[in-house]
Amino acid sequence: MIGHIRNRCDFCGVCVGVCPTDAIVLFESDLRIEGDSCTKCARCIHVCPYKALTELSEPTPSEICNPGVLSVPDPLDPLSGTIRDYYDIVVIGGGPAGSYAAKIAAEKGADVLLVEKDTQIGLPLRCAEGVGADELRQIFDPDPRWIANQIKRLKFFPPDGREVEIMPDEPGYILDRRVFDEEIAIQAARAGASILLRTTATGLSHQKGGLEVTISRLGRQYKIRTMLVIGADGVESRVGRWAGIKTACSPHDIEVCAQYTLGNVEVEPAYCQFHFGRDVAPGGYAWVFPKGRSVANVGVGVSGDFSSHHSPLFYLNRFVERYFPSSSLLRVTAGAVPCSGGLERIVADGVMLVGDAAHQADPITGGGIISALKAAKIAGEVAAQAISSGDTSARFLREYQDQWDRLLGKLNRRAYRVKEAVFRLGDERLNWTAKRLEGLRPEKRTLSKVFQIALFDQPRVLVDAAAMMLRIKRR
Ligand SMILES: Cc1cc2nc3c(=O)[nH]c(=O)nc-3n(C[C@H](O)[C@H](O)[C@H](O)COP(=O)(O)OP(=O)(O)OC[C@H]3O[C@@H](n4cnc5c(N)ncnc54)[C@H](O)[C@@H]3O)c2cc1C
Ligand code: SF4
Ligand code: SF4
Repeated sequence: MIGHIRNRCDFCGVCVGVCPTDAIVLFESDLRIEGDSCTKCARCIHVCPYKALTELSEPTPSEICNPGVLSVPDPLDPLSGTIRDYYDIVVIGGGPAGSYAAKIAAEKGADVLLVEKDTQIGLPLRCAEGVGADELRQIFDPDPRWIANQIKRLKFFPPDGREVEIMPDEPGYILDRRVFDEEIAIQAARAGASILLRTTATGLSHQKGGLEVTISRLGRQYKIRTMLVIGADGVESRVGRWAGIKTACSPHDIEVCAQYTLGNVEVEPAYCQFHFGRDVAPGGYAWVFPKGRSVANVGVGVSGDFSSHHSPLFYLNRFVERYFPSSSLLRVTAGAVPCSGGLERIVADGVMLVGDAAHQADPITGGGIISALKAAKIAGEVAAQAISSGDTSARFLREYQDQWDRLLGKLNRRAYRVKEAVFRLGDERLNWTAKRLEGLRPEKRTLSKVFQIALFDQPRVLVDAAAMMLRIKRR
């Protein structure tokens, strides 16, 4: 049996994301492991960033939470009277994907309920908050309230520690995601969607003429009938599993991350930094994303293949000691991004998956905000059409998957092949690539050039990289 050390757990959901048997159930502030379903494969133990899971014999009994206790019943819920027993669409998860899909579907006339298990939209923050400026502008007009900083250049740090400036394809923003996520939820509410916080979806079943979603709210269970469920429940997604879609991410494909928001750091505000190397972040990279002159999100993502040796917090502490020894810690966060390049299937009868739940993040960078928003727009539109046409079959909803494939799905599959090649490069090759880049004029040091040099002996991957960069430039 697997033990859960509750006072170490951050309820980040990484373990749920890799569990192949759906044995882990995550609530607002509790986690239960279903002994009957657990095959003791230990994947969850390997990826947990806080080392909060263990073989049961290891910790002292007092450290292990009681697996029977789910949540504290609280009869004082002023909103419980407003929960109806039917909505056209139930969106599960109030991150960017869920809120934006809810907004679009509500704008098109659907009756939408959005449920979010946390107490606030946008918190806890599990993100470095970086996005491409041009891409974001295609979706929203930038608002100074949710833009913390503007990025003009990138710096690449190979294992030998030299720094090489790289021209990005577009400038960037570092968001204030708490405000940003909240703004999208406000837009959803303005469009007519109902939003319930501290509300966890715990099950889904097909009933005659539709679906029934079970939600747990402040210790009470509610059954809600609906025609369509949009699973926007992030890395810990269970909606797809309830619908028979295989969503478990292999440890190899999950980037397990730890991040500190640091104050009192000396950073160049216009530069994002990316650090590579076996001792820095095996199967991933470390980042420094400035939020201003003296504050930065500093994090490390490592492939789940390696996180069983050392947790990302180990690498992060070493990184911070080296580069920011006088900094002060403002926030700690841990999480993960599925970087599998995409699921084979993101729709089922009455069900659509969107955002991290559908593995839609860029598999190379792990950036998932923009792709989640783009997918959510298509999903919201197709969902509203399905409701108005009275057809929520997988065949009808397939339109969403097809549009997503044309927009970014195919590109992400190419990017996955490039990622596999890049993260296999040894330290020597990374150092050599940096040296070659240094010999070029600054304006020639583009991302395409980085791939051309680093992968020069892998022509098939270079074709993927070239096609990928061309698509990125055109969009
Ligand atoms: C450390 C770290 C750094 C990152 N940095 C960047 C970056 O710089 N740029 C970038 O673009 N991307 C970044 N990402 C990825 C990015 O955060 C995600 O891709 C993005 O948040 C995906 O949005 P989403 O709406 O799909 O999922 P999420 O934002 O994860 O939202 C899912 C929501 O569903 C809720 N939920 C889950 N289960 C249930 C349930 N059963 N019932 C009710 N609610 C539920 C969760 O509480 C959560 O609020 C980073 C990720 C990590 C972990
Ligand atoms: S992976 Fe996250 S949710 Fe799971 S036990 Fe570890 S800290 Fe808790
Ligand atoms: S990941 Fe493996 S060990 Fe962990 S709960 Fe799931 S089946 Fe059990």
